[in-house]
Amino acid sequence: MKFLFILLLAWIIWLLLRPAPQRKIPPHPPRERDGENMIPCAHCGVYALEREMLRAKNGRCYCSPEHRAAGEKNA
Ligand SMILES: [Zn+2]
Repeated sequence: MKFLFILLLAWIIWLLLRPAPQRKIPPHPPRERDGENMIPCAHCGVYALEREMLRAKNGRCYCSPEHRAAGEKNA
């Protein structure tokens, strides 16, 4: 009976130590983060997505055409 007990113990250990079944989990592709930066309007300071901002000739970004015009006037 001792042999059976050792066999059973070995089987339990094998069950615990065997590598987990590999699941087919597709790796999450890194999301495109370009243009997702939040930057402040150079005139009023409101944060908005960089791709939605208006870029002025002076290189600054504004939240609206009005603020761009005001910012360029002040510059
Ligand atoms: Zn603004």
